[in-house]
Amino acid sequence: MSDEKTLFEQIIAGEIPSFTVYEDEHTYAFLDVNPLAPGHTLLIPKHPYERLNDMSAEEAGEVFGVLADLVPAVEAAVGADASTVAVNNGEEAGQEVPHVHWHIIPRFEDDNVGPIHRLFDGADLDDDEMSDIAAEIASGLSD
Ligand code: AMP
Repeated sequence: MSDEKTLFEQIIAGEIPSFTVYEDEHTYAFLDVNPLAPGHTLLIPKHPYERLNDMSAEEAGEVFGVLADLVPAVEAAVGADASTVAVNNGEEAGQEVPHVHWHIIPRFEDDNVGPIHRLFDGADLDDDEMSDIAAEIASGLSD
């Protein structure tokens, strides 16, 4: 991790202005400056973990506790029917700001965006491949 403050740390410090919607000891939430929909909100841990993979389960749990309250509040604020909650987890997944953040994007019946499944062509895997992958993931959890 570099010594330089991430963009989002500068926002937390008030060095870059933001439309703040929530702050506590560990987390901070603010409106995305380029909203994909009205109310598009970003939730971050104050500590500048680059990716979700860098957080302990306890630290991630603190963020998820806030997320559970924030999502319905964001939806209600803009009269949304639903929301897409997503993390671009790593550069290859489209992450541009290297300080992990949850996007909460309000969704509306007629927004014509569709599910995140639309981003992918799909992977054609047989049962053996699925079984090997499942076993590999399970063994990674028990390490
Ligand atoms: P990602 O591509 O997942 O890293 O998303 C980064 C997000 O940060 C984008 O949606 C940007 O619009 C948003 N963003 C960048 N700069 C700012 C800023 N100064 N204030 C609020 N949001 C920002």
